[in-house]
Amino acid sequence: MQPAARPLAPTYQERRWEHPPDAVIHHGTVDDAARLLEGRTVTALTGAGISTDSGIPDYRSPDSPPRNPMTYQQFVGDDAFRRHYWARNHVGWQHVNRTHPNAGHRVLAELEQRGVVRGVITQNVDLLHEDAGSRTVIDLHGRYDRVICLQCGRTISRAHLAERLDALNPGFVESVLDDGTTVADIEVAPDADAVIARTSHFRPADCEFCGGVLKPEIVYFGENVPRARVEQAYALVDSADALLVAGTSLTVMSGLRFVRHAAKAGQPVVIVNRGETRGDPLATVKVDAGVSETLVALGEML
Ligand SMILES: [Zn+2]
Repeated sequence: MQPAARPLAPTYQERRWEHPPDAVIHHGTVDDAARLLEGRTVTALTGAGISTDSGIPDYRSPDSPPRNPMTYQQFVGDDAFRRHYWARNHVGWQHVNRTHPNAGHRVLAELEQRGVVRGVITQNVDLLHEDAGSRTVIDLHGRYDRVICLQCGRTISRAHLAERLDALNPGFVESVLDDGTTVADIEVAPDADAVIARTSHFRPADCEFCGGVLKPEIVYFGENVPRARVEQAYALVDSADALLVAGTSLTVMSGLRFVRHAAKAGQPVVIVNRGETRGDPLATVKVDAGVSETLVALGEML
């Protein structure tokens, strides 16, 4: 049985960072950014901040309460934790499944059609860039709509798993929402993880082919992005003249390394984010503003 004292949030602590003492940050306006990017091809690197306008909270934005994301080790090493995770995910994924791209996603898709944007590297798993019409998208941290078996490696769709989980747990989603909350009220993190209290009776599903442990095809903290995907992303950065970062604090190295790579190669780097980012000292221009409105303004000038 799941101990009553088990915390809702996992215990993983995000690593804190500080800029070097001699760091210089070049703050600028959207006009400065447009002047810098004009006539150049661009690779975009996006994070949770581009999806907040679609109703998916950004747990690293300055206004958000601190969140402790689940680690890979917790997921694979603890049956009770995994059951709890799947119960929350079973409610949360449907929320992400119903979200729509916003103007920020759409402008990147339009810029790709016009030959300005080469492609998007995203840390989000919500597939909203694909929904908006972006063609070249590298889902760096995976995608919420697929599930992988850790034993046999087979991949199934999240929608198919939802049918199995519904059959194993009839009425579960409804019972969670019984206490007056609605799906829209439930706190949903970018990894489709909804916060609910009663999960100890939830029955997760094993792989239907081999009985192995199923895991969302999402890269968790403590897990590496597959090497081939990283190489693809570097190649996409190299294929453009400039890097446009939008809506990420670049706290984790999996995104920051592309900013370092571009800066080292002498590419202009524009960072658009509400609040400080770990990559700010590497930015040619940092625009501290909302992501969607800044991208729309930028799109009109490019
Ligand atoms: Zn399997």
